[in-house]
Amino acid sequence: MHTNNTITICGAGIAGIATAYYLLKKDRNTQIILIDKNQPLSFTTSKSGENYRDYWPEENMRSFISDSILLMKELKLKYEDASFDMINSGYNFVSHNSEKKVFDTNLLSDSKKYFEEITDNNVIQNNHSYLDKNIKKIVTVKNAGRIDVYALGSLLLREAKKMGLKQIEGEILDINKKDSSFNITLNSKQTIKTSKIVIAAGPFINNIAKMLGFQFPISNTLQRKFIIPDPKKIIPKNMPFTIYADSQFLNWSNDEIDFFSSDQKYKWLLNKFPGGLHIKPDSEGIKLGWAFQTEHTKATWSIPKMDLFPQVVLKGASNFIPELSEYENNIPSPLIEYAGHYTRTKENWPLIGPAKEKNIFVIGALAGYGTMASCAAGKLCATYILKETKLPKYAKYFHPQRYEDTVILKEISKINNDGQL
Ligand SMILES: Cc1cc2nc3c(=O)[nH]c(=O)nc-3n(C[C@H](O)[C@H](O)[C@H](O)COP(=O)(O)OP(=O)(O)OC[C@H]3O[C@@H](n4cnc5c(N)ncnc54)[C@H](O)[C@@H]3O)c2cc1C
Repeated sequence: MHTNNTITICGAGIAGIATAYYLLKKDRNTQIILIDKNQPLSFTTSKSGENYRDYWPEENMRSFISDSILLMKELKLKYEDASFDMINSGYNFVSHNSEKKVFDTNLLSDSKKYFEEITDNNVIQNNHSYLDKNIKKIVTVKNAGRIDVYALGSLLLREAKKMGLKQIEGEILDINKKDSSFNITLNSKQTIKTSKIVIAAGPFINNIAKMLGFQFPISNTLQRKFIIPDPKKIIPKNMPFTIYADSQFLNWSNDEIDFFSSDQKYKWLLNKFPGGLHIKPDSEGIKLGWAFQTEHTKATWSIPKMDLFPQVVLKGASNFIPELSEYENNIPSPLIEYAGHYTRTKENWPLIGPAKEKNIFVIGALAGYGTMASCAAGKLCATYILKETKLPKYAKYFHPQRYEDTVILKEISKINNDGQL
């Protein structure tokens, strides 16, 4: 296959699909090809907790995600409200400490635009009776909720195909540069000649980059969630996405502490766990997650289960929703566990834009926010590919070559809360 002006997107997760959509919206004269080894949206994107929020502790992320939320709202207007669910159900950060600074509000002149704080015990208990009686503070992010990422991605893919997108299923095994174009070899032995490449391979962006002779400064960590039924109806169906802001030691019995401290395999259960444990109602029951893993791993196609993950999360959760302790030793079935990679840079800004090598672009390192960021990320990547000059203010901070800019490096060194959940 050969066309003179072809852009090939490597990876049909939400990032690659959003890029295809925004490219075709701006330019229908270029052949756009989207390649994936598997079904579109079936890898990291299918593991998303599907939450969104416009409040981020860092300014560039705040305006990036706010733009993305606006773009999603525009899509709902353009393609009918029913095209994908986007429900403003809120985020509640809860704490046992009324003095807890969940966010550094001093940095924001317009903090009331983003969230409200409740510290009145009566109000907390009257409106959230499922919470522990000693919860002293709730910080609600107002413009936040959930999105159906599969429906959003399917909409963008369907519309991109209507505008001429060509979709190919196959694993990319090799890419060779020849003169001013690239030859992509698939596992089917098919080769694709293309003039530009977009690396949108999620956790595997460095596998594709390696084929082209360079690497991005990213790491992968595994993060997990699970869904269980809620036969005792502990979590109200209208409960906002609720996040425990405090760090904690888990409340083990003395016998358990003795046992865990004597066995290297279980010692980690006695560590202090970070804030960020989250719970929300799900159509199947309750969805819980806690991104406490920090070890870097090699990206792999299949991800093993983590021993004791649901037990640990339920124990941590019963600290702020005490009734959940009823499920700790008697986990309701079916228990659905799933995991994916958070692919991220050290400062947790994404990589979007041109790589060092000519005609190669990247959209990746979208960590735990790639669903909510997808539209703004795809639009920004398309803007770079089409050489448009009007870029949003945050673009230079997310540029893959930013580490060569001393001013940006200084700003990176000042980030003290990367907003990861
Ligand atoms: C547990 C978990 C919870 C999350 N919760 C949220 C949330 O609540 N809100 C939110 O906004 N974000 C969330 N995220 C983050 C979000 O899911 C990701 O940032 C986003 O899905 C990344 O999309 P992507 O397109 O970059 O990657 P992917 O979805 O992984 O897509 C990359 C694609 O590239 C393909 N590919 C890779 N290598 C090759 C190759 N050699 N040949 C062919 N194809 C290839 C893969 O098959 C894959 O389909 C969560 C992530 C995880 C893991």
